[in-house]
Amino acid sequence: MHLRETDVIVVGAGPVGLMLAVELRLAGARTLILDRRPQIWDIPKAGGVGGQTLHLLHYRGLLERFEAAGGHPRPTPRFPFGGLHIDFTPLDESPMQAVRLPQPQLERLLSEIAGERGADVRRGHEVVGLSQHDTAVTADVRGPDGSYPLTARYLVGCDGVQSRVRKMAGIAFPGLTYPEVNRLGQFTMPDSVKLRDDGDYDVPGLGRLRAGFTRTERGEFAIASYTPNDVGVYTSEEEAREYDDETPMSVTELQDSIRRVLGADLPLGEPTRLSRFTFHARHAERYRAGRILLAGDAAHQFPSPGVALNAGLMDTVNLAWKLGADVRGWAPPGLIDTYHDERHFAGQRTLLHTQAQVALRRGHDPAAEALRELFSELVVDEQPLRRMAALIAGTDIRYPMPGAGQHALAGTFAPDLTLHTDHGTTTVAELMHTARPVLLDLADRRDLREAARGWRDRVDIRTARTDDRPADALLIRPDAHIAWAAMIDEPGDTAAAALREALCTWFGTPVKTAERV
Ligand SMILES: Cc1cc2nc3c(=O)[nH]c(=O)nc-3n(C[C@H](O)[C@H](O)[C@H](O)COP(=O)(O)OP(=O)(O)OC[C@H]3O[C@@H](n4cnc5c(N)ncnc54)[C@H](O)[C@@H]3O)c2cc1C
Repeated sequence: MHLRETDVIVVGAGPVGLMLAVELRLAGARTLILDRRPQIWDIPKAGGVGGQTLHLLHYRGLLERFEAAGGHPRPTPRFPFGGLHIDFTPLDESPMQAVRLPQPQLERLLSEIAGERGADVRRGHEVVGLSQHDTAVTADVRGPDGSYPLTARYLVGCDGVQSRVRKMAGIAFPGLTYPEVNRLGQFTMPDSVKLRDDGDYDVPGLGRLRAGFTRTERGEFAIASYTPNDVGVYTSEEEAREYDDETPMSVTELQDSIRRVLGADLPLGEPTRLSRFTFHARHAERYRAGRILLAGDAAHQFPSPGVALNAGLMDTVNLAWKLGADVRGWAPPGLIDTYHDERHFAGQRTLLHTQAQVALRRGHDPAAEALRELFSELVVDEQPLRRMAALIAGTDIRYPMPGAGQHALAGTFAPDLTLHTDHGTTTVAELMHTARPVLLDLADRRDLREAARGWRDRVDIRTARTDDRPADALLIRPDAHIAWAAMIDEPGDTAAAALREALCTWFGTPVKTAERV
């Protein structure tokens, strides 16, 4: 008989492990995070958070804290996509927004929030072994004061691309590694380089250098500025050399690469960020092996930039409430398995567009040129621009929901409706701060409130009015995805039966109660 020290062990205090801990605490699970590093690694990786993550932070009431640390979300008018730029400026408002928060700062902030919520964060503690049986999982931990075992109900590997948890759980990570070495540098603008009014650069000895991507025989070069005082430079070359990702890149290494790709020297200012990386397209075969689960880079690796963090953070919000439901004893059978079904599906969507980007950026033959030209022609109209933005931001995910004849909103992220109630005005986002499931009655449907009565201990039942209601009622899961929706004026018998079925599927068996709603 094992004594469980905690409900969930999270391996890895990167952004994904920390966000998972924040969500697990909201879901009521005791949470312990272990990280092998004694402190947060001060190496620049992701430069900020954007896409669907911003909506989620808003729905959790956390966006203000992120804005206080990194400023208001800023639009990304031109998003790099497969060696091209998608120009979102024709749209009224850029759908691509991001809060600039370098990863070490992001981890500090999430660490702070996880601590405030009661998660135990242990740094300098490495997981070196794992075993599991029917009711528990045990991690062998090597800490500063020696080795010790730690037992929990579940363990989640958020331990990055080289995930030891994934290997120890016997989960395959099939896919591809692409041969290009990519180098990225952010610098202060050197005095000798002039940023022109049209966004291009005047470079001594080189003349006019076009902003954006330049393709040469040796690879790819890109240059862009956030402000007139900074400049970002990127190269991509096919190289046989193997790099150790833990060895920081030097300015000389980047300058040598620029010389090879561009055939010229480029003056650079003071470096503010330097990194080197290769692209992989890999996907864990399963996100779950018994009581061990995977999230973030441990579960997926994408061959194009700017999307990995968003995907990992969205894994956490999908998983946490399901583990919390199990810990609290109301999880219906199969609930935790839906984590793999839904997030593996989402991972495949991200692989779809990041691998399409590989095809776009590679090759110099006429077929490759034709592909780039055709793609560029397509992404100028409003509809394709919105589709691409939703795909990149991860806002287009619609989880397949069980049940026939589902409402068009089922499986989607709940819209942030303004809600008028007898106690004042609120929003869907505000209702989701506590991460509790909500039955939102938008048409004073007493029959539906009655149907949900037996789940009142775990599902909040709210009645409100909203302009142009999209449905008579919405059943919203803690991850803000809609589990079920009633059509406008849907007859009570079919609507109540379907609602009860959805409640059983997602929130378990009802408790018997004599009270009326
Ligand atoms: C140079 C670079 C630039 C990037 N830029 C972007 C970007 O612009 N946008 C974007 O979305 N993404 C970007 N990424 C990717 C992004 O950094 C990752 O997606 C993100 O770090 C994944 O978070 P994670 O928590 O899953 O894993 P990690 O951040 O890798 O965290 C894993 C943690 O697990 C710990 N750990 C590992 N093994 C063990 C063990 N056995 N026991 C205990 N602890 C362990 C590690 O110490 C680490 O802290 C970039 C990555 C790099 C390298």
